[in-house]
Amino acid sequence: MKTLTIKNGRLISPVNGLHGDAGDIVVKDGRIAEVGSDLEAQGEVIDAKGRYVTPGFIDIHTHCYPKAFLGLSPDVLGLDRGATTIVDAGSSGSDTYDDFRSNYIDTAQTKVFTLLNISREGLIRGHELDDPAKVDVASAMACARAHADNIVGLKARASASVVGDQGLAPISVAAQTAHELKLPLMVHVGNYPPALGEVIDLLDTGDIITHAFHGKPGGILNEDGTIIAQAVRGRQRGVRFDVGHGVASFAFKTYQRAMAAGFDCDSISSDLHVQNWGGPVFDMATTLSKVMACGEPFEDAISKCTSAPARYFGLSGLGEIAPGMVADLNIVTVDEVCETVEDAMGERVVLDRRMRVHTTIYSRGDTSAVIDRA
Ligand SMILES: [Zn+2]
Repeated sequence: MKTLTIKNGRLISPVNGLHGDAGDIVVKDGRIAEVGSDLEAQGEVIDAKGRYVTPGFIDIHTHCYPKAFLGLSPDVLGLDRGATTIVDAGSSGSDTYDDFRSNYIDTAQTKVFTLLNISREGLIRGHELDDPAKVDVASAMACARAHADNIVGLKARASASVVGDQGLAPISVAAQTAHELKLPLMVHVGNYPPALGEVIDLLDTGDIITHAFHGKPGGILNEDGTIIAQAVRGRQRGVRFDVGHGVASFAFKTYQRAMAAGFDCDSISSDLHVQNWGGPVFDMATTLSKVMACGEPFEDAISKCTSAPARYFGLSGLGEIAPGMVADLNIVTVDEVCETVEDAMGERVVLDRRMRVHTTIYSRGDTSAVIDRA
């Protein structure tokens, strides 16, 4: 459809000064045309009374290349679950990107952006950085430059099983390559070695640590619960810290302690893939509810999966509620509940608030569509 009006929502987009006040949004030709109160209804009308209206979620860590290890199709991980934009975190490398692009990215309804793996094979077999021959800097740079409309950063995994006896060398190469391309590098951190602190020291302004709040040894906390010095220094020079829940990478206790130390996350992502979409991750709304249960304020949680990641990756037009922005929107509730959920360590926590995405409005070119989950 070309025109629709969302009436009486509680609009949430802190970067646009919207903090839950009642308002209406008129969508025309795939863009937000007007935001205000008592706007004249045009086209199809969606009544959002009593519900929040947020920008469509941007999930910056997913695995949506089905031919790669862990991959599921983009629309299963994106629009079906309330994320209007998803970023694939390194499933493809320069050898596989063309297939990913033409057969999955360009055919999806969900907007998909790519973090190109510094390993030329991407995540086809795992262990993708245990041999220098698996990294071809020239082909990675050529691929990123040829597809600058879609490749918004590079990705490397820095766990023991991935880098083998190569240690930090491939991560250092990835960082240098990303900096030369003037793109952010996202680094996955996991099983020690290397330790998180050593990885952070390789990163610079705009680079992102994902799985930053895992509960494994060598993580973000010192034994006394304070934040490791490398993370404090990293944040000072602009390194960003992402949740990336995943199957083994988000620990309630770690995040609660980090928040208590004043070190909250910069972005919230799911790391959704074939091993966790049926639990414990499920979707972004569940991940956001868990982060909120650790003390994250609701408005901050929304900013960290909308306007913040849009800014980090230069996704112009996305992640905000303002005239002229792309009309990707979610209608959500935050209900009082008493629900036990698990983190990635099998630790349980009781949610007292649960976010649900009832309706997703998304644009493709100059038209809009609505997914109603009631
Ligand atoms: Zn991942």
